[in-house]
Amino acid sequence: MILIDTHCHLSDEAFKGEEEAYISRAAEAGVKMMLQPDVDSRERDAMFALVDRHPDTLRPMLGLYPGSVDTGWEKEIELMLKYSSRKDIVAIGEIGLDYHEGREFEKEQKEALEWQFEYAATRGLPVNIHLRDAMGDFLEIVRRHKGLRGNMHAYSGSYESFLELQRLGDWYIGVGGVVTFKNASLAEVVRKVPLDRIVLETDAPYLTPVPFRGKRNESSYIPLIVSKIASLKGISPEEVASVTTSNAKQLFSI
Ligand SMILES: [Zn+2]
Repeated sequence: MILIDTHCHLSDEAFKGEEEAYISRAAEAGVKMMLQPDVDSRERDAMFALVDRHPDTLRPMLGLYPGSVDTGWEKEIELMLKYSSRKDIVAIGEIGLDYHEGREFEKEQKEALEWQFEYAATRGLPVNIHLRDAMGDFLEIVRRHKGLRGNMHAYSGSYESFLELQRLGDWYIGVGGVVTFKNASLAEVVRKVPLDRIVLETDAPYLTPVPFRGKRNESSYIPLIVSKIASLKGISPEEVASVTTSNAKQLFSI
């Protein structure tokens, strides 16, 4: 089985000094590649430095995280663009809307998202979306940017929202640890969404799957997600692995 973790934060403090061991454990579990989302100017240098030490295993994204957007977002975009000439960027992300901690910067989050949608379109890159408590506003913006290609990281929306996204562009959903949680409504969504629209992810160090829920997450747990998707869909883990890996390769051109 060759697996790809399409969203994990290996440069997070949680893994400091253990990066090599993390990558070996992932490789033993079949996870041969891990995509690294960009967050903001405080974390960016560390993320790219880590990618440069492991160019075959780690691939970077470039983007401004919605939780880091405030009235100074244009300055943040300028800092982000210092990395724009890198040839290894696989997506613009993680970008999106997050109203979970409040809507103080709702207007700025929307502006930053639209700016980055246009930037992704200009560069011909897919987008990696972080979305929390904002599906209505997000779909409204996507309607103005038809034909986008992207991935809804840690998808928490409904099947109907997934169908709406398909009408508006070329969208995949990222499925991770949440699908293993008891009473997860995501399980029902995953049952219905075609396998050729699903990519795997951990969001490590967050969203750890059962039976490790509550502990630190890592890419070597991806096979737990594979088994869960396989049982939900009544197919083999091998099929889940091969289809989701080819989806990730196609979406991110890796
Ligand atoms: Zn993330």
